[in-house]
Amino acid sequence: LSRLRRTEPSVRSFIHVADSDAVREAEELDRRIASEGKDALGPLAGVLVGVKDNLCTANMPSTGGSRILEGYRPAYDATAVRRLREAGAIVVGKTNLDEFGMGSTTEGSAFQVTTNPWDESRVPGGSSGGSASAVSARQCVVSLGSDTGGSVRQPASFCGVVGLKPTYGRVSRFGLMAYASSLDVVGCFGSSVFDTATILSVVAGHDKMDSTSSSQNVPDYASELVPLDSLESKPLNGLRIGIIQETLGEGVDSGVASSIKAATSHLEQLGSVVSLPSFSLGLPAYYILASSEASSNLSRYDGIRYGRQVSADDLSELYGESRANGLGHEVKMRILMGTYALSAGYYDAYYKRAQQVRTLVQESFEDALKRFDILVSPAAPSAAYKIGEKINDPLAMYAGDIMTVNVNLAGLPALVVPCGFVEGGPAGLPVGLQMIGSPFSEEIAVCV
Ligand code: GLN
Repeated sequence: LSRLRRTEPSVRSFIHVADSDAVREAEELDRRIASEGKDALGPLAGVLVGVKDNLCTANMPSTGGSRILEGYRPAYDATAVRRLREAGAIVVGKTNLDEFGMGSTTEGSAFQVTTNPWDESRVPGGSSGGSASAVSARQCVVSLGSDTGGSVRQPASFCGVVGLKPTYGRVSRFGLMAYASSLDVVGCFGSSVFDTATILSVVAGHDKMDSTSSSQNVPDYASELVPLDSLESKPLNGLRIGIIQETLGEGVDSGVASSIKAATSHLEQLGSVVSLPSFSLGLPAYYILASSEASSNLSRYDGIRYGRQVSADDLSELYGESRANGLGHEVKMRILMGTYALSAGYYDAYYKRAQQVRTLVQESFEDALKRFDILVSPAAPSAAYKIGEKINDPLAMYAGDIMTVNVNLAGLPALVVPCGFVEGGPAGLPVGLQMIGSPFSEEIAVCV
């Protein structure tokens, strides 16, 4: 906690820090150890976790990074949060994000800009930037984020930590503020694969509150890890690894490409290059589908049900005032884009076509994953860039999601691990390697 307090003024990972609650919960754990013994406690007893502020936490502010939810305190925990608490974890605070998860830098928060612990003049990535920077600055041990189009994987890459986007449906979305429901997943950050695997086993599994959550058995992911010293004799268990050709060409910073090539040079003997022809189609399809779903999901913020209250003379003024003042620029733009794409005259040209592209992307992954166990790519085309650099150029910011959005369109699991550095900042800037697997193959990805 003292480390968190010391680093927070410059990193600004948290919108809300619950330090006195954390101390109280830790003292309660101490009392339980004294009376019942250590073994009575859960597997995460006393572990400090940060939770992205678009996940509901009982009696703690949950804003989604939006003014419209200022002052909102949900009556319940999101299922993933509840499971962490039941395992003994202590929620130390709510981490910063781009408003409702829409963005790639965390600059889109209504409250504050989070900085990258590797270089304070740079963004931590987004939208789960606060969850990534908190683990990177060792303000907490592990954290939860959400990933609709890369929001766990790209910040993990920018901040040099491990980030896991589980298979769609592996973790319940109950209590996660919906952005694009067919793409949203709750994901995990840690400073090692072991930590990330450990919390995945706790949060994953069927939940009757989310009918899209899978009832597939949840393995003990951490126990499936291959110890480094056995890799020599049993290199990667004979996994077939394909490096996605389209992700190392044009538009990718040369330093990122060479880090990925260096990290995969020993894999190349085991695997080979694979081509995903529909790869570049994913980005425009994603932005149409995500905005369309957002335009519908965000209609619940009407100024009546949750959050901040405004005074108005009639209903339409109430809606107008609440949304005009409560929602930020990027969110309004997405609502407009989505409403446009779904409108009667344009539905076939945009929404329907984007759904067709989604099917193509799914099929090309399915085909490649028949031949390979793992597909490899960078997690982002560049390392962390400067705060303010892309804030006025949304298209440049969207283009940075090219490596990650396809995985959400196909619903697949993907793990990002640090794999090297490029020049920049006082100590270099981390580069992340993305490993994509078949649905519910988290234990394979985690092994690697
Ligand atoms: N940057 C992407 C977007 O703005 C992805 C965000 C996310 O995964 N929540 O939509």
